[in-house]
Amino acid sequence: MLLSRTQIEEREKATLASYAVLSSVSEGREYPEDEGAKRTCFQRDRDRVIHSKAFRRLKGKTQVFVAHYGDHYRSRLTHSMEVAQISRDLARTLNLNEDLAETIALAHDLGHTPFGHAGQDTMSELMKEFGQGFEHNEQSRRVVELLETKKPNYPGLNLTFEVRDGLIKHRTPFDHPKALDVKMPSLEAQIVNIADEIAYLCHDVDDGLRAGILELADIEHLSICKKALDSIDGSIDRDFLIPAMISRMMRLLISDLENQANDNLEAFGIITAKQVVDSAKPAASFSEPIREDAAKLKAFLYDYFYRSVGVAEYNMKGQEVIRTLFSCFMRDFKLLPEAIRLNPHDSESHILVKDYIAGMTDQFALDLYNKLR
Ligand code: MG
Repeated sequence: MLLSRTQIEEREKATLASYAVLSSVSEGREYPEDEGAKRTCFQRDRDRVIHSKAFRRLKGKTQVFVAHYGDHYRSRLTHSMEVAQISRDLARTLNLNEDLAETIALAHDLGHTPFGHAGQDTMSELMKEFGQGFEHNEQSRRVVELLETKKPNYPGLNLTFEVRDGLIKHRTPFDHPKALDVKMPSLEAQIVNIADEIAYLCHDVDDGLRAGILELADIEHLSICKKALDSIDGSIDRDFLIPAMISRMMRLLISDLENQANDNLEAFGIITAKQVVDSAKPAASFSEPIREDAAKLKAFLYDYFYRSVGVAEYNMKGQEVIRTLFSCFMRDFKLLPEAIRLNPHDSESHILVKDYIAGMTDQFALDLYNKLR
């Protein structure tokens, strides 16, 4: 039996939680389109994200390490896929809209600069000279609303309101989006925020250990690592201990979030999707003990991984590349490709330069830097 879009929408109505976002009641797209007979609007949004150039470029953008240091470190593409996997897992257990959560997760880093968070910080400093800042989540929304062009009749990917809204409200300790809207994100967007945190906490420990910047002895005293290690059979072969610890940590964080979100929804008396966004507090959160465990791990990673000599060296290089490219382009605007220079939506040079550099992969930026300096 083949399912039609209407049947999938009916199934969502019949089976998803009352506070889930239904594709049939989406606030729609900025440029109205025929929604087609087969896929829901969120399925189509996800497919548009995956088939975008900005999504493919994520493979060449650093998470914390660069790919050429080794084949097994996370890139921003594999990070986004891990966030999407965790988000779908959470959405399914909480009976939310998996397609919406997956789409927000896959798109959440589309606007990220090359060279990880060092790149974002440098761009933010450069934009301050023009009275502006730089936030990768705002840039992600700019990518899907404007920069990624596929059709002649509208700019961007023309995604639904719910996906674009989920992107701008994506908040992590790294991000400081301007409070444009005081309402809460949908539950689907809230779980993506925390799935992002779960993904990077676990994979940064894994990558840090793989790189030899962290040692098991450094982290085993951290409460979340200790809880994970205590649950593993002591006779396990040492080669399997780290993968088992990472997997247990992830499971602990995911299960805690699921249980706490469920308790919060009940405690806040939330029954509808509208009550989720009108709520004074986010319904998706960790329990207090796990929030503290996660905060301790985060603080540890800041001090001993993100600021470690090996990572800091690469960050400094990234900062220099971005600064140099920015000043070269600002000095000689003709160095920008025509498609960027003639952007019909913006004419301010610093905005166009920012868009161009933010879209680059690490290697593309490095090659251009070596050519131009
Ligand atoms: Mg992320």
